[in-house]
Amino acid sequence: MPAAHRTIFHVDMDAFFVSVEEVFDPSLKGKPVVVGGRPNERGVVSAASYAARKFGVHSAMPLRTAAKLCPQAIFVDGHPDRYREYSAKVYEVLNHFSPKLEMVSIDEAYVDMTGTERLLGPPMGAAHALHVAMKTATQLNCSIGIGTSRLVAKICSDQAKPNGVLWIMPGREAEFLAPLDVRKIPGVGKVMEKRLQDQGIHKVSDLASRDPGWLEQNFGALGIALSGKAHGLDAGAWFDGDIGEADGPRSISHEHTFSRDTADAQQLESTLARLSEMVCRRLREQKLHARTLQLKLRDSGFHTITRAHTLNEPTAIDSVVFATIRALFRANWKGEAIRLLGVHAAHFEDESEQIGLVGQGPHDKWNQALSAADRLREKYGENAVSLATGMKARFRERTHENPAGLPGKKKPS
Ligand SMILES: [Mg+2]
Repeated sequence: MPAAHRTIFHVDMDAFFVSVEEVFDPSLKGKPVVVGGRPNERGVVSAASYAARKFGVHSAMPLRTAAKLCPQAIFVDGHPDRYREYSAKVYEVLNHFSPKLEMVSIDEAYVDMTGTERLLGPPMGAAHALHVAMKTATQLNCSIGIGTSRLVAKICSDQAKPNGVLWIMPGREAEFLAPLDVRKIPGVGKVMEKRLQDQGIHKVSDLASRDPGWLEQNFGALGIALSGKAHGLDAGAWFDGDIGEADGPRSISHEHTFSRDTADAQQLESTLARLSEMVCRRLREQKLHARTLQLKLRDSGFHTITRAHTLNEPTAIDSVVFATIRALFRANWKGEAIRLLGVHAAHFEDESEQIGLVGQGPHDKWNQALSAADRLREKYGENAVSLATGMKARFRERTHENPAGLPGKKKPS
């Protein structure tokens, strides 16, 4: 289907964590509220209410800094269970509007509304109905961006905040994007922004007017993607594929086919460990955490099964992924000779969404250590660093350390 004919909604809940807290304690409404811990704790802010944001408080900021900026703020602990529960409610509401739906984080989703006009009316009408349905079912506000691509829809929802709708009509994408700072393009962070500015590129229009070849020369494949994005297209891995596509780029998997079928438990498990590592490495490269993990088993007779498990907390940690996959394997492998093994991760959340909840706990140290391992691999090759081979004791120890449900735990002070 040509991009110009698609109708994509990006639905983003407004101040999600804070708003959920307000449902449980309505006295918080309208006040400066900081979710994430106590003002004297070492953790960081998970979320701030709009009233607190006026004082410069924002997520990922140290709690102590937030307390300095806004001493009158009400500090509350985060409740990940509540957020998951409300995220599921959000999903339910969206699912009534279109089954082509992809939650991209706990409070944010793309909904492909293409072809729903006969049932739900034109985009603005459908968006209004969605606002009402969301409020009724969850008591929460959301902002809705509507465009012909995910990229445009995502940028729109940001501009529509709070509790608004912004629809960019087909054909008007470039005009809408042109005056925006390049930083507004998803995937352009501080570093890329600086690199672009060094080349005199400040606005999306600057980017759009550059020759794609020049962009590629200077920024590699990313440059080509940026060129497409500047024109309102879903360019680059992040946005490839259709919404709700089962095996789209919103999943990461690795498989291994044995040169000879094997029923050797140790060989099978160490292969799963290696595959888990490879998946995690790619998760970390893309700064993603996966919530759903899946094992694939194919036996000599080409009989294939898949078994999935959904984690309480999304992860990119080798040992957590491996422990989950191994448990699935042990529960489902009956001793038959295996031809192929696969490890598949999906239902991603952004690393940045994790920061606020996880704080400076052991997870962060692991992430740092694992990234260091990733860097070594880059420098010295894939086999330079491996947690999987010959390090089973280490694995056990790390798994044991796994602070399951970490966000609910007390942060080290
Ligand atoms: Mg949000």
